[in-house]
Amino acid sequence: MANYQHILVTVDFSSEADYVIDKALELAMAQNAKTSFIHVVEYSGYLYPPDTPLPVDLDLEAQFVEKARENLASIVENKGVPGAAQYVEVGSPALQIVHMAQEHAVDLIVLGSHGRHGLQRILGSTASGVLHTSTCDVLAVRVGVCKT
Ligand code: AMP
Repeated sequence: MANYQHILVTVDFSSEADYVIDKALELAMAQNAKTSFIHVVEYSGYLYPPDTPLPVDLDLEAQFVEKARENLASIVENKGVPGAAQYVEVGSPALQIVHMAQEHAVDLIVLGSHGRHGLQRILGSTASGVLHTSTCDVLAVRVGVCKT
């Protein structure tokens, strides 16, 4: 099997993110692959019809994006890959992750089996959405389950 060339690491800032990132970086090193990181800001204001009264502070989205950029940059620096590409997008995590993977010729997406959306299902909603729609390989790192 040929090595992966470009791995996209999905980061949701949950307590499991660190483990998912470490797994992805181990794999990237073994495969000599380029690594990029993505966080998607789930801001739902854009889901409302244009005439819906919304809170005045629509600047909120820009603040979330700015904070997410800072958090992602700090994680990437701490992990020792400061030159890696970092993407912060707004919208549905699964849609944006798959879209960015296609845009940037990613051949492996790494995500946690669960993240901030909890452990209610075998796979979390983002993990499931990416697995169902991605055109490249997807690695779901098992998190939140006791290993025997
Ligand atoms: P979930 O399916 O939402 O519980 O999350 C599963 C995994 O998808 C997480 O461990 C992350 O790797 C990824 N993920 C979830 N939400 C986001 C997000 N907003 N941005 C980037 N990655 C995410």
